[in-house]
Amino acid sequence: MHNVVIIGSGCAGNTAAVYAARAALKPLVVKGLEAGGQLSITSEVENFPGFPMGIMGPELVENMKVQAERFGALYYDGEVTEADLSNRPFRLKINDDWIETRTLIVASGAKARWLDLPSEQRLIGKGVSSCATCDGFFYKNQEIMVVGGGDSAMEEANFLTRFGRRVALVHRRDSFRASKIMYDRAKANPKIEFILNTEVREVFNVEKGIVTAVRLKNLETGETFLREVDGLFVAIGHIPNTKIFRGQLDLDPEGYIVSHGGARTNIHGVFHAGDVQDRIYRQAITAAGAGCMAAIEAERLLEEEGH
Ligand code: NAP
Repeated sequence: MHNVVIIGSGCAGNTAAVYAARAALKPLVVKGLEAGGQLSITSEVENFPGFPMGIMGPELVENMKVQAERFGALYYDGEVTEADLSNRPFRLKINDDWIETRTLIVASGAKARWLDLPSEQRLIGKGVSSCATCDGFFYKNQEIMVVGGGDSAMEEANFLTRFGRRVALVHRRDSFRASKIMYDRAKANPKIEFILNTEVREVFNVEKGIVTAVRLKNLETGETFLREVDGLFVAIGHIPNTKIFRGQLDLDPEGYIVSHGGARTNIHGVFHAGDVQDRIYRQAITAAGAGCMAAIEAERLLEEEGH
């Protein structure tokens, strides 16, 4: 029987682990398939307070893990494949075994949706990014491309004009999912060029290990053409990792956990932390703060119950 199980080992999960471990709760952290979360595929993190010279994403997340382990957190290589939250203690299936826990912190994150081109996947962190706030700064005076037609793409394109010489926004249709205000703002920005009815088909240069250009295809004319770019920002949405909680936790139509105040979910004893609930800020520091809140709430509940 565990006091606290934390699902996910990104910023949110690791911070929850530090706090729960320091409260002597011996939290069990189930790392998940993408151990370290989104930071593990980020290059340099320059906006996490406390690191004036920046820190590499994988190093930051590993440091958090070491810190949590120092206070007694246990890390488990595996994935929670089923969850039964109908009664407390909650039951979780991990690698064919069922375990029980008095409280649960869901910090399973959200995956950036990618184009799923092999060349794109090979160049993530080397010019391909899913986070303008994280990586925009590296493209001062360079050629930037953003893919997508939703609010994220408009927001990222606008933000990236602070850095890039020019920002090309590539969208597969000629109408937009983005809200009018966000679209209008992007449209009015003289540094943004819209390339519509167009898909990215390949990212170069995998051999050099750095983004130099993309091959685009105009879906109306069938024409393909090359465009030189230094940074490719894929902003086509995120997918929260909540499949195993469907029908149990309150989720919004896109699958994000609905908060019931603080770090609480609709189920007493189950808390949320990080991008699995937050579709707005999605930052390492906000995820870390949310992990802290979830651990404090779990600790208070356990204390009230005399555990
Ligand atoms: P989204 O609204 O789902 O838009 C995703 C966009 O990516 C769509 O234009 C879609 O094209 C395109 N796309 C999806 N898969 C693609 C693929 N394989 N290849 C090429 N394009 C693809 O996602 P989002 O922009 O991340 O926004 C998610 C939610 O967060 C929305 O509710 C949004 O309003 C909200 N949000 C709000 C703000 C804000 O208010 N400041 C900022 C960011 C996000 P199609 O249109 O052709 O399907």
